[in-house]
Amino acid sequence: MTSHEVIDAPEWAKPLPQLDNVNEEYWKAARDGRLLIQECTKCGNRQWYPRALCTQCGGEPQWLETAGRGTIHTYTVVRQQGIPAFKAELPYVITMVELEEGPLIFGSMPGVDPDTVSIGMPVEVYFVAAAEDTGIPYWRPAT
Ligand SMILES: [Zn+2]
Repeated sequence: MTSHEVIDAPEWAKPLPQLDNVNEEYWKAARDGRLLIQECTKCGNRQWYPRALCTQCGGEPQWLETAGRGTIHTYTVVRQQGIPAFKAELPYVITMVELEEGPLIFGSMPGVDPDTVSIGMPVEVYFVAAAEDTGIPYWRPAT
């Protein structure tokens, strides 16, 4: 369906997520430019982040591809950071995005001037290819 920009990062220096049988498809889809959430096959509940069971009824979640768009639900500005790979991006915005499909998703907006960010602002996802099988979603103002 919708595929978003994937930026290569041959020198990825940040921590990588640990792939397991619950989250592997999420990170691999992100590597291909697709943002997934889960939808329960029993009650229809939608959730992020990936879990083995539905948080509402314990049913089995299936993957649902999102449009990769939402609005800023809330955010904060990180101004101090000791880890070099993150320190180079200071100051940067950490946000909770409300997806068009409903769930809230946590993310970062490196390179976006914090003074230009506001609650309710439309944003879109893009990805950084952190490893052969792992993409990291990031957010930026919607075009
Ligand atoms: Zn459910």
